[in-house]
Amino acid sequence: MCGIICYTGKKKVIPILMDGLKRLEYRGYDSAGLAVVENGKTFMVKSKGKVSSLEAKLSDSSSEATFGIAHTRWATHGKPSEINAHPQFGCNNKVSVVHNGIIENYLEIKEELIEKGHEFTSDTDTEVIAHLIEQNFNGDLERAVLKSIEKLDGAFGIAAIHSDVDHKIVVVKRGSPIIIGIGENEYFAASDSTALAPYTNQMIYLSDDEMAVLNSTEYYIKNLSNEVLKKKVEFVDSDIYTNDKKGFEHFMLKEIFEQPETIENAFRGRIIESEGVSKLGGLEPVIDRLKNMKKLIIISCGTSYYSGLIGRYIFEELTELNVETEVASEFRYRKLKLDKNVAVLAISQSGETADTLAALKEAKRKGALLLGIVNGVGTSIPQLTDAGVYNHAGPEIGVASTKIYTSQLVILTLIALLIGRYQGMSFTEGKEIINAIKKLPDQIREILSNAKMIKEIALKYSVYNDFLYIGRLFNFPTAMEGALKLKEISYIHAEGYAAGEMKHGPISLIDENFPTVAIATDDLVLEKILSNMEEIKARDGKILAITNEGEKKVKKIADDIIAVPRTLPLLQPILNVIPLQLFAYYIADEKGCNIDKPRNLAKSVTVE
Ligand code: GLU
Repeated sequence: MCGIICYTGKKKVIPILMDGLKRLEYRGYDSAGLAVVENGKTFMVKSKGKVSSLEAKLSDSSSEATFGIAHTRWATHGKPSEINAHPQFGCNNKVSVVHNGIIENYLEIKEELIEKGHEFTSDTDTEVIAHLIEQNFNGDLERAVLKSIEKLDGAFGIAAIHSDVDHKIVVVKRGSPIIIGIGENEYFAASDSTALAPYTNQMIYLSDDEMAVLNSTEYYIKNLSNEVLKKKVEFVDSDIYTNDKKGFEHFMLKEIFEQPETIENAFRGRIIESEGVSKLGGLEPVIDRLKNMKKLIIISCGTSYYSGLIGRYIFEELTELNVETEVASEFRYRKLKLDKNVAVLAISQSGETADTLAALKEAKRKGALLLGIVNGVGTSIPQLTDAGVYNHAGPEIGVASTKIYTSQLVILTLIALLIGRYQGMSFTEGKEIINAIKKLPDQIREILSNAKMIKEIALKYSVYNDFLYIGRLFNFPTAMEGALKLKEISYIHAEGYAAGEMKHGPISLIDENFPTVAIATDDLVLEKILSNMEEIKARDGKILAITNEGEKKVKKIADDIIAVPRTLPLLQPILNVIPLQLFAYYIADEKGCNIDKPRNLAKSVTVE
């Protein structure tokens, strides 16, 4: 959720920590802080708000320190404030700790520690870790951390330092990502490889219940039974981590405009045209199991949940599988009847989504085949699943997902195509889908070339406080995704509905101040949605329709239209969502919202 960056070596640490925090700020950003040690003394600075306010506080610092830890927070326990910002520390200010995640039993531990005389200053769950380490410390930081971890329930990525222990950083991972960066006589730890990109391409992804001990000359990794482990060093291509807006005003806009390329990256090298089928190396080890599966359950959260909902329609259309899509946070608590004949497919941008990860663990326990569609290479979900497919879409910095969503839809289609061709789907049908997929990048370019017109329409609609989005079949989830985009970045109330459900409730909201965005592209339910649009018109509701070029009936009913090119109905959501992303973006921009970092949201949701 939030970011951790740590360094131990010979260079001045504060610039490295600040640079790392800026790269991580898209993950969580309500407060930030750092602690460094120089000549046996801790120097700590924290600040509420953005990393830039921490930077301002540090502007006259002359610290020469060469090791330290830093954090950008997304509050779970205690308000965003300077006191609650991390690092948290013990009573004597010697132990400093940064933490991502949640300590579920922090209240019990806090009470015990208060009885032992510890004084607490913050409302965070994190502070108990610092006091526990302080309590357990007798010269050996590593041992003190190990002993403290035994007490903790919950999910965490932790880094701890002690001012009496020169240049040593101890980090532990349980449920929240930690990556170690290896340099020449310098070592890093971070919650996300993006933070390490400028410094090293050699990284180690810690697994759960592993601890790394770093100092300026060596590092080692242990399990919690104190045994040293041999871990593989991954070479990560740092070019993909450019945190550059490339001339766009916001990352979100840049990412919307990147979609022709990210769609192409999703299918490049993954189709065999001559056979009308896809080729997904990541699924090859399990393909025999997969083609005989009876049931597929797709689990995901947020925008990935909506791509999963469209995935259900795609799989139903192209394969013989029974398909369900469920929100991961609900799935994990149900009484599930899973077995080896069920495949569970997790979709996650970050690969670290806590709810999805926990749901997968539940499915694993019950013997299901675990699959993933993930953008974050080497992250926790790909480590847990039996097989999967990466998006290869590069980092998505804007909190509201755009390019990963459309990339997920392409990959879902490729997986369904692969399975479908083992089942009833003909070569001709397979070929038709491939041809349509290959056209998508150019069709998206065409939509993006109309951005100016979409902006004008968005400005016209930016005066409203409420919106209804409606769609049917493949585009019912598109309506929900369109509404979510608007909510996330402009804070305008918007509801996404199955158009047929409108008359069962939401139609009572409609009047001249409550406009509707209707997704009315050409498919077998177009006539039905036209009727729903008539019902809205009859009640003075304004309508903006997303439709195909030349759809005369839609044009007649709607007040405004945005036309998109035609593709197969099952791929049409990929095109239809692009104007909805732009529409939300331009409204949010008009309102002066913080588009890349909307209030209360974080990019990678690693808490339950
Ligand atoms: N639970 C901790 C807090 O509220 C850490 C939150 C985070 O992951 O940023 O301070």
